[in-house]
Amino acid sequence: MKKIIGYVCIITLLIMTMAGCSGQVDQEDDGKLNVIATTTMLADAVRAVGGDSVKVEGLMGPGIDPHLYKASAGDVTKIREANVVVYNGLYLEGKMGEIFDDMARQNKTILKAAEVISEDKLIPVDSDYGNYDPHVWFNVELWIEVVEEIEKTLSNYDEENKEVYKKNADNYIKELKDLHSYVEERVKEVPKEKRVLITAHDAFGYFGEKYGFEVMGLQGLSTATEAGTADVRNLADYIAENEIPAIFVESSVPVKNIEALKDAVAARGFKVEIGGELFSDSLGDPGSEEGTYVGTIKHNIDTIVDSLSK
Ligand SMILES: [Zn+2]
Repeated sequence: MKKIIGYVCIITLLIMTMAGCSGQVDQEDDGKLNVIATTTMLADAVRAVGGDSVKVEGLMGPGIDPHLYKASAGDVTKIREANVVVYNGLYLEGKMGEIFDDMARQNKTILKAAEVISEDKLIPVDSDYGNYDPHVWFNVELWIEVVEEIEKTLSNYDEENKEVYKKNADNYIKELKDLHSYVEERVKEVPKEKRVLITAHDAFGYFGEKYGFEVMGLQGLSTATEAGTADVRNLADYIAENEIPAIFVESSVPVKNIEALKDAVAARGFKVEIGGELFSDSLGDPGSEEGTYVGTIKHNIDTIVDSLSK
């Protein structure tokens, strides 16, 4: 008996060593699909669709700005070893483009999530950072399209669990449709002339287009463009002239810019409030209410409506 246990141990050790050498370690070693997603929003969507059949890791944590994010050597290894890679695209992950181009040349299963949306639904922009606004997650209906595409991608790679992914996606999409209705209902509480959303950078274009807000960001579409003094001056004039009651801080952008704007408005004899913190390019902390996409969208619309409808 002892002999048999000894053989089993040696064989197990051998298998473990071989797995380590082949570079296949971490890939489906627990029967789960190994998925890497760049942003917290995408990781959350993959988690919702993949359920227990996938192991998802988001490269960027809460509060991390994807426009400025630089992949570490460890990230590149994780991307290389993953079964499936999901990223936003449309230049959101500005500094990671080359890595994804490289991976795409190597037959890797990669989903450029936002680029599955048809061009006529994207907001065209004239910027140094691509031709379309990348912040598609703020239109819940567009995000549903992304979720559907995640389901397709996981099912293609892992046909055995196709039914699981379908069921999870269907349930999640139902939840997202309710979320979309919730946002529409809450927006009605803000008088039409007060539907102006001013934030740290231009992340809310899709939100504005879908839910009927005029949106303005102090910085442009990418936080890689610094706000100039002229930007602060123009926006401060606008806020004071139109008596906009509140402006908003973003979780992934330093607060100092919005504070400078508030001061500039005060110098024009009008008091604008900081209406609270919105989650723009990342979700909140895991485990908190805002740690999921649904929780984040609810937090944002509640914060916006509560401040602007005062
Ligand atoms: Zn952004």
